[in-house]
Amino acid sequence: MKAIAVHPGKPGSIHLEDVPKPSVEEIAGGRGVLVRVLRVGVDGTDKEINAAEYGAAPPGDDFLIIGHENFGIVEKVGPNAPDTIRPGTYVVASVRRPGTSIYGTIGLQDFTTDDVYYERGINLLHGYLTEYYVEDSDFVFPLPVSLQEVGVLLEPTTVAEKGINHAYEIQRRLKIWQPRRAAILGSGTIGLLMALAARLRGLELTVFSLPQKPYLNADLVEELGGVYLSSTDLSLAEASEQRGPFDLIMDATGFSPIVWEAAEVLGKNGVLVLSSITGGDRKAEISSDRINQSFVLGNKVMVGTVNASPADFRSGVDDLIKAEALYPGWLKKLLTTPIQGLENYEQMIHALTEDRDAIKVYVEVAGNGRR
Ligand code: BGC
Ligand code: ZN
Repeated sequence: MKAIAVHPGKPGSIHLEDVPKPSVEEIAGGRGVLVRVLRVGVDGTDKEINAAEYGAAPPGDDFLIIGHENFGIVEKVGPNAPDTIRPGTYVVASVRRPGTSIYGTIGLQDFTTDDVYYERGINLLHGYLTEYYVEDSDFVFPLPVSLQEVGVLLEPTTVAEKGINHAYEIQRRLKIWQPRRAAILGSGTIGLLMALAARLRGLELTVFSLPQKPYLNADLVEELGGVYLSSTDLSLAEASEQRGPFDLIMDATGFSPIVWEAAEVLGKNGVLVLSSITGGDRKAEISSDRINQSFVLGNKVMVGTVNASPADFRSGVDDLIKAEALYPGWLKKLLTTPIQGLENYEQMIHALTEDRDAIKVYVEVAGNGRR
């Protein structure tokens, strides 16, 4: 079967590989799930892997099948898969797998302390930009048929979910935390999904991002009832004067200096959630006394988040269902840029790197699975 792969370490090595079709028996304990891949989204991580800035091949292979934002339909299950996952069920598999740390042992490999981590389509494990995959049912999450159009957004949604779920988890220390105003920094796919998650939790929403209106992503923020502000027009401090103080700020800009500006304007008892993977070595001048003092006197928290746990996949499914009910058609508008078929990988990488108007680039690997 066909698969989109790269040779890690070799820039621009994206190509089509021919790989054997996997079988359900490869998975131990009778928990195998064979999934026909329907759609796979791509993001900055895939771009960086093809640029050889990130990623590693599985031991013994000189290529890595990329793609981690998967969506598919179950074809076959082993005898011990749960009955929530049957042939015909739409599913999304998670990305990270346990290593040796205690967190992997308890199913929270998103919190691994291992230096080496295993992520399908990213590091040391093959991904989903192929026709079929098999996986242990422990790492496979069922979706209702009502999400067949937008289910490919679940994995990036879980990144937003983990961030916001942990903000609430952390603030349980306060006994009462009644956040009112959220600011999301960045309006790419993750920023928009964070905006959605904040809105679904009843927060006043401000999205602060570089492009000026008119801008589709700004329209999408307004459709959620949020306010879009461009950093071309005002500083984050000014945005906070207009719309803050913010109880929750979540960053998904990829621009690390903004984090220190956010730290400066975060409200009392506020949480600042960082999710950008910034591979460079940019330095910024910061107001260290002011930030430090406001964190101390305001009992503030800054927290990093990566990947997602099973709970975040489940709340992600719930939020996608809620989004379809409250903002019908909104999620579908994120699916701007379909690529037809695995063989069009050049077009995929071109859209990913060059198309400024694309929100989500994704590959239609097969039809919607209904036959
Ligand atoms: C993926 C996460 C992953 C992270 C770090 C992101 O693009 O969506 O699942 O943990 O990259 O590799
Ligand atoms: Zn990703």
